[in-house]
Amino acid sequence: MSNEKIPYKIYLSESELPKQWYNLRADMVNKPAPLLNPETLKPITKEELSGVFCDALIDQELDENTAYFDIPTPIRDFYKMFRPAPLIRAYCLEEKLGTPAKIYYKFEGNNTSGSHKLNSAIAQAYYAKEQGLKGVTTETGAGQWGTALSMASAYFGLDCKVYMVKVSYEQKPFRREVMRTYGATVTPSPSMETEVGRKILEKFPGTTGSLGCAISEAVEKASKTEGYRYVLGSVLNQVVLHQTVIGLETKAALDKYNEKADIIIGCAGGGSNLGGLIAPFMREKIKGERDYRIIAVEPESCPSFTRGKYAYDYCDTGMICPLAKMYTLGSGFIPAATHSGGLRYHGMNPILSQLYDDGLMEAVTVKQTEVFAAAEEFARVEGILPAPESSHAIKVAIDEALKCKETGEAKTIVFGLTGTGYFDMVAYEKFHDGKMTNYAPTDEEIEKGLANLPKV
Ligand SMILES: *Cc1c(COP(=O)(O)O)cnc(C)c1O
Repeated sequence: MSNEKIPYKIYLSESELPKQWYNLRADMVNKPAPLLNPETLKPITKEELSGVFCDALIDQELDENTAYFDIPTPIRDFYKMFRPAPLIRAYCLEEKLGTPAKIYYKFEGNNTSGSHKLNSAIAQAYYAKEQGLKGVTTETGAGQWGTALSMASAYFGLDCKVYMVKVSYEQKPFRREVMRTYGATVTPSPSMETEVGRKILEKFPGTTGSLGCAISEAVEKASKTEGYRYVLGSVLNQVVLHQTVIGLETKAALDKYNEKADIIIGCAGGGSNLGGLIAPFMREKIKGERDYRIIAVEPESCPSFTRGKYAYDYCDTGMICPLAKMYTLGSGFIPAATHSGGLRYHGMNPILSQLYDDGLMEAVTVKQTEVFAAAEEFARVEGILPAPESSHAIKVAIDEALKCKETGEAKTIVFGLTGTGYFDMVAYEKFHDGKMTNYAPTDEEIEKGLANLPKV
């Protein structure tokens, strides 16, 4: 097979869909620090977490020794509707750039939710159903996670309650209606439905909401409603575990053609797609079998890795969830209102944080306008209209390919294309009209965010 010309799209067959998720923690020399109970500051136990998360998911969250978890058949059956996802050789982009580099991207946008988030949403909904729960609650900002969870809940007949940041609820009516089509109840946050919502509305009557506030409402609703749990679409180790289908498929597709990646690139919000993409490659790197350059790309407006601190912090603005040791800008840090909603998170997944601290991966920041320029260049030659989040990875892949053009090196670059951007046309409009700006937080803003880290 290795002598064949590599096709534009490397498709795996249905039988090659991974049967297990891979838990990178089992092979890490320095394990990520344990989650702490926010009240006692001691490592949190399964019992303490059971009011918040589903039982099977807690086991996955806390397990740092089991390398492989079987993917239950109902989840695999659902995956088969949109997986294995193709690994695409960007021949057209390579030609346009005139680079000797080989560029591949793993495309995760080929489902109605439009992103990789469905990989974890379906797993979380499955375990909630297995436990006999009635429903799940969550928050959504830009709307990708809420959409994915709505689809997954509908499939397993679970009730799904989404608190959507009010400004997005009003500005993105299409996203809202997609969620309602899948049977979810969508409430603009802050709302009068919860105590925390009522308090916030009383204090700030005209507020358009925030992600932190929506999380607090979703958590309150779950904890006060019998048979409900709260679920999260990123940051947690269980989410990275589910997302390893991305990396496992990518590696299988490359192996099929005897291709070896040199550089692996992914955008990083809470870290779930990046963690999933790199997991099997990082395994080889840790074991000394092969070296890879692994690059996390973050927006300059929300630079958790590059300007944050490796410390224990709250995962949510409401300070209800367990404390995680991670690269963070502080749970009170409010990033500028950029157009990559999925990357506006103050912290980074604990596994990735440990890997970064150990020097096993790099991180770079990019400017919003450069990201959209790269998105447009990519769309015009490769056809796919990328999500702004995904376009962070595109920008750095192009940069690396252009470096190869200078040096004449034919490196193999692989990046994660996490989703499509059809609901982001207002952002594209701003870019086209020259009205898009860049924003980097000042040192004072960063210091202010870090000043309120919990004392652990
Ligand atoms: C949510 C999202 C991201 C960022 O989330 P991670 O957990 O860091 O992967 C990236 N791309 C898209 C399209 C998203 O919806």
